[in-house]
Amino acid sequence: MNYIGCHLSAADGFENMVRTAQSIGANTFAFFTRNPRGSKAKAEDAADAAAAMELLRRGGFGPLVAHGAYTMNLCTKDDDARAFACSVLCDDLRRMAALPGQYYNFHPGSHVGQGTEAGIDYIAAALRKALAPGYPVTVLLETMAGKGSEIGGRFEELRSIIDAVGSEQVGVCLDTCHVYDGGYDRVHELDGVLAEFDRIVGLHRLKALHLNDSRNPFSSHKDRHACIGDGSLGVDTFRAIVNHPALRTLPMILETPNELPGYQREIELLHGLRFS
Ligand code: FE
Ligand code: FE
Ligand code: ZN
Repeated sequence: MNYIGCHLSAADGFENMVRTAQSIGANTFAFFTRNPRGSKAKAEDAADAAAAMELLRRGGFGPLVAHGAYTMNLCTKDDDARAFACSVLCDDLRRMAALPGQYYNFHPGSHVGQGTEAGIDYIAAALRKALAPGYPVTVLLETMAGKGSEIGGRFEELRSIIDAVGSEQVGVCLDTCHVYDGGYDRVHELDGVLAEFDRIVGLHRLKALHLNDSRNPFSSHKDRHACIGDGSLGVDTFRAIVNHPALRTLPMILETPNELPGYQREIELLHGLRFS
């Protein structure tokens, strides 16, 4: 049994999100911890979180994969903006303590001209600070397509951040569209890509997947998601992923251009690709 789900709206609270997930056959899901393009977060509701945790347990859900706001750039040049991004991260991880044991995925950031090394140092410093209180959450660096000055397009960059933070609470979420777009050819070489990931980062750090097909051809660094089977990765790639011994136990989150009925169909399609 795979853990497959999609992005859901957090607007109506955690308990409602779990019920929505169940209504479309999902047994994991992702949600934005705050407005994805802003910084506003919902008021906290401990009873709602506790009710959601109980439903997750009873429903046999895999780990959830929360997503940090796109606007949170931990390695931006401006000191004040960077400090604000770090305070958002700290607050998000504190809030995740209401849902113990789940994952928090985010985009490492864009260095906007200062260089990859300086960017990596800033990201690692923010993570050390945010993880210091010991909240029960594992943070996941998302593999990026390498657009502009985005950090995280190369496995080596993720490894450098992980080494600089020095915590077991840092893992990786591999986005299939981003990795293919970033120049790792998993259509023809899934095992080769995973071997490279294992050599550079270590497969034990791989905690979750974003399942997206790609609108663009291999290595185009554009980051445009397509529905499963409609892009250049194709259904065979996803069949290999849901059956792969190193991947099939991980939570898999769809970020395809869909509403709920489309997600429901894709979840069904993906479960149907399992050999056993
Ligand atoms: Fe993302
Ligand atoms: Fe993603
Ligand atoms: Zn993307």
